[in-house]
Amino acid sequence: MKFIEKLRDLGVKALVNKTAALNIRETGLPGGNLADRLCEAIEQNKTAVAAALNNADTDMVLLQVLENDPEAVMRGISAAAVALGTENKVLYVPENHPEIAEKVASVAEEYGVTVKCEFVNLRENADTMLIHIATAADLAHAIEGDYTPGVWVSVDGAEVKKVPDGTKLADICDLTGAKGLIAGYVMRPVKDAQLPVEEAGIANGVVRVLREHDCVVAETQKRLLASRARSCGKCVFCREGLIQLEYEHREMTQGRGKPEYIDFTHEIGEAMAYSTPCTMGQNSARIALSAQDSFAGEFEAHIRKKKCPSAACVKLVNIYIDPRTCVGCGKCLEVCPHGCIEGRPGYIHTVDDFDCTKCGECAKVCPNGSLVITTGRVPHTPMRPTKVGRFRD
Ligand code: SF4
Ligand code: SF4
Ligand code: SF4
Repeated sequence: MKFIEKLRDLGVKALVNKTAALNIRETGLPGGNLADRLCEAIEQNKTAVAAALNNADTDMVLLQVLENDPEAVMRGISAAAVALGTENKVLYVPENHPEIAEKVASVAEEYGVTVKCEFVNLRENADTMLIHIATAADLAHAIEGDYTPGVWVSVDGAEVKKVPDGTKLADICDLTGAKGLIAGYVMRPVKDAQLPVEEAGIANGVVRVLREHDCVVAETQKRLLASRARSCGKCVFCREGLIQLEYEHREMTQGRGKPEYIDFTHEIGEAMAYSTPCTMGQNSARIALSAQDSFAGEFEAHIRKKKCPSAACVKLVNIYIDPRTCVGCGKCLEVCPHGCIEGRPGYIHTVDDFDCTKCGECAKVCPNGSLVITTGRVPHTPMRPTKVGRFRD
């Protein structure tokens, strides 16, 4: 194959020098430099090269780099393999994406790369140089001479693209109504939008703007739950730490958070970060720790006041019908999927809070904006449907 021959002609030294000259960073490893990692792997006599996503990556948006240009990824794996003098080349596709493994199988075969559709077991890969899928693509472009320095980013679920170094997060995000950002595995206050992308720690390609209606506690819980589902569970700190952290955050969103959960999160998170061998334990802890550091007020509100400032935690908001504006049209009653609204034509309607999921469907159809979802106090309202105009507060 021409590309592999070209690599062999280039020679190991020139290949490493080229990588070093372009200062290619290893995606997912803060401060990780590909040239240093190649030299280290050569010194350690690694016998295989494998490209993968980080184990902690539950969003998996960087799989788009593989889907969009599988050839570049295979070439990058092959380049690293030539540098190491090995023919043992592997591509790991996450276990829940067999369709992508299938899609890239023929290109992989062409380059002699074995595709494994599974979680990366670090112990089994002790003699393997592991590189990120996106780094493999970068390495291939460096050899082809069309490498552009930058960070792979997907903003708010949009398609992944390479954003040039020096670009500020604020330049690529719509910050209207923003209270913060998730960049990689870190929750950041909105002032951090002034950071350039290469300093924002976007290890998994994810940038998400947190707006007023996004609850940081619920978002953290959701991410911890996704990590729990993906963790292989072999390390005590990762397995037990994730169970405990996710439980505490869930309790907070249900109005059962305890003040000691703040200190527990720090203790567990810091222990996980230092005591786990793969990115799963380390980065799951970062999301919980950074959320508390950057949004302490939201945690305080959930735990001490039993309130969700974003009105997103169903158990912590109230719903009522404003008796001064309800005209008894019955539209809300018709759409409620749980039969929580009582009333008849011409009567002020009422909500039975017990089964209400706070889905907001009723509020969408009310012509008078009479349905109020609030984190505050519920005023005096009728106990049962009352003829319009008869209610006195
Ligand atoms: S840190 Fe978590 S995911 Fe990684 S090997 Fe240990 S238990 Fe498995
Ligand atoms: S918020 Fe949803 S469940 Fe609750 S009363 Fe309205 S429509 Fe029914
Ligand atoms: S709350 Fe709104 S939709 Fe429901 S009966 Fe009253 S006016 Fe109609």
